Amino acid sequence: MSNNELHTDLRTAVRELCSRFPDSYWRELDAREAYPEDFVKTLTETGYLAALIPEKFGGSGLGIAEASIILEEVNRSGGNSAACHAQMYIMGTLLRHGSEAQQAQYLPKIASGELRLQAFGVTEPTTGTDTTQMKTMAVRKGDRYVVNGQKVWISRVEYSDLMLLVARTTPLEEVKKKTEGLTTILVNLKDAIGNGMTVRPIRAMINHATTEVFFDNLEVPVENRIGEEGKGFRYLLDGLNAERILIAAECVGDGRWFVDRASKYAKDRVVFGRPIGQNQGIQFPIARAHVNVEAADLMRIRAAELFDAGEPCGAESNMAKLLAADASWEAANVTMQTYGGFGFAADYDVERKFRETRLYQTAPISTNLILSFIGQHVLDMPRSF
Ligand SMILES: Cc1cc2nc3c(=O)[nH]c(=O)nc-3n(C[C@H](O)[C@H](O)[C@H](O)COP(=O)(O)OP(=O)(O)OC[C@H]3O[C@@H](n4cnc5c(N)ncnc54)[C@H](O)[C@@H]3O)c2cc1C
Repeated sequence: MSNNELHTDLRTAVRELCSRFPDSYWRELDAREAYPEDFVKTLTETGYLAALIPEKFGGSGLGIAEASIILEEVNRSGGNSAACHAQMYIMGTLLRHGSEAQQAQYLPKIASGELRLQAFGVTEPTTGTDTTQMKTMAVRKGDRYVVNGQKVWISRVEYSDLMLLVARTTPLEEVKKKTEGLTTILVNLKDAIGNGMTVRPIRAMINHATTEVFFDNLEVPVENRIGEEGKGFRYLLDGLNAERILIAAECVGDGRWFVDRASKYAKDRVVFGRPIGQNQGIQFPIARAHVNVEAADLMRIRAAELFDAGEPCGAESNMAKLLAADASWEAANVTMQTYGGFGFAADYDVERKFRETRLYQTAPISTNLILSFIGQHVLDMPRSF
């Protein structure tokens, strides 16, 4: 089967699955701030969430191109992949840097859905994007790490079995380079919560199951460390291109959803005796949003091709994320404007998707930080920090 045929079949199958979770499903969860348990269960049982896990561990061993199509179609259907997308990229750290024993222990269970690895603990309240300044410490005591500190915006902790935690094992003052001394540790959440780890939900603008997490002498077995001690920052960077491409695809899905809705509404809504889409003031912004979403998609496809060929793709992955996030946000604004007052009504779903796609200007990496990566690492301009 050619890649094109595979992708077309994949899109059709994911669309069919998503049709079982209509707008009303997501709208109702949003109102209750509830987790899309049935959707995540279905995406797991059908194997889509294990797309990137190699076949020998029970996954389907597909590439990032295919994984990104799955997430794109979820968002294009009106849903929100953010409920479970992190498993696809967090799992990569285990796959690339975990020991054989860790891979054999966890990956088949993640693929089958017996275990969820949905939580990723990096961001801290006082240090934000400046990751190397993080203060959470994991101090080795015999065969355990004792963890103390705090994380913020850690999503899906309450709906996951495992969390990949990034903590300092060597204080910043004692390392030669600030990127040294960070370590990745797999935390078994069922053991940890209530035994040194406390989780406090954050009420946010979107339904994202996001939380603050506090560590007070949490003990984690040393055998849960992924890779070498002190090399966690490098492992973190290794996973970023996959994350950027997957999020770009979600934004493309959002962008297409907005353009579909806006163009349909512009044809149907009659004011002053004609469809509002007959006015160029309404039609052209929708057309421009479409152009920008499709252009961003090309960069996302290019980045995915390079990634799957094992070629360097840092520049393309970052550019794809930036272009797609901007295009989906533009499309969101245009759709709100096209819908007039009805854009604000929850029943039309525009305001929900508008809030959801706004996240990608800020997380998992903000637009400014991508521009600084391009400025410094692609265009070789001076470092600003
Ligand atoms: C809903 C949600 C879910 C999240 N889920 C997770 C999660 O599961 N796990 C996790 O670890 N994190 C998560 N995050 C955190 C997210 O990755 C961060 O919010 C994001 O990286 C930005 O960090 P910050 O909020 O600390 O902003 P800051 O670092 O405080 O930055 C604030 C603003 O200043 C800008 N800025 C900062 N420094 C510079 C500079 N040198 N030059 C130019 N501009 C600059 C930034 O671009 C940003 O716009 C989530 C966040 C949200 C909102």
